[in-house]
This record gives sequence, structure tokens and C-alpha cells, in this order.
Amino acid sequence: MQAWAGCAITAPPVQAAPRATYEGVPVPPQFHDALARVMRVARLPAGVRVELVGSHRVHSASVHASGTIRLSSRLWREGHALDAEEAAAVIAHEVAHRNCRT
Ligand SMILES: [Zn+2]
Repeated sequence: MQAWAGCAITAPPVQAAPRATYEGVPVPPQFHDALARVMRVARLPAGVRVELVGSHRVHSASVHASGTIRLSSRLWREGHALDAEEAAAVIAHEVAHRNCRT
């Protein structure tokens, strides 16, 4: 019979991965308006502050535990820009992901 070793209480703390750095780009107003609309009904955990960061280096949208929503500049690329309702759907989707992490 093999005993389960578990995690020794004296184990060193897990080191967080180095924070990735991204070049932020301005996020268009329809996304900030969408965030304001969503936050009127969102129920985020205490201490979570949502902010929007645009990036040319990501392909869609994602949310961090801190509440930062990273948005690809593809979402407002000329000729393919999301409208206000689509932007609100993206923001609401990411806020829901953040809420599910709690
Ligand atoms: Zn998703």
C-alpha cells in the first residue's frame, strides 16, 4: 500500500508566474459605454475592479482575476468593428467569466 504524500506544510509557497506585459492600446468609446451598462447590473466580488485594456497582441477577449478585461484591437478593426450591442455582449461575457472564478 502506498501512502499519499500530500503537500508538506513546510513546502515553499508556489511562486506566481511573472506578470505578462502587454502594450496597451486605446479602447474605443463603445466598449467603455458597454462596460458602464454591464456594471449597472453586474455583481462582482468585493475588491474586483474592472478595467479595459486594448491590445494588438491578443486575438479576442479575456479577463484576469483582477478584473482587467483585455480586448483585441481586432474587435474595432476598420470595416469589422463591433457595434454597441456586440461590444456589450463581449463585456458581459467576460464579466460573467470573472464571476465564475470566485
Ligand atoms: Zn468565454
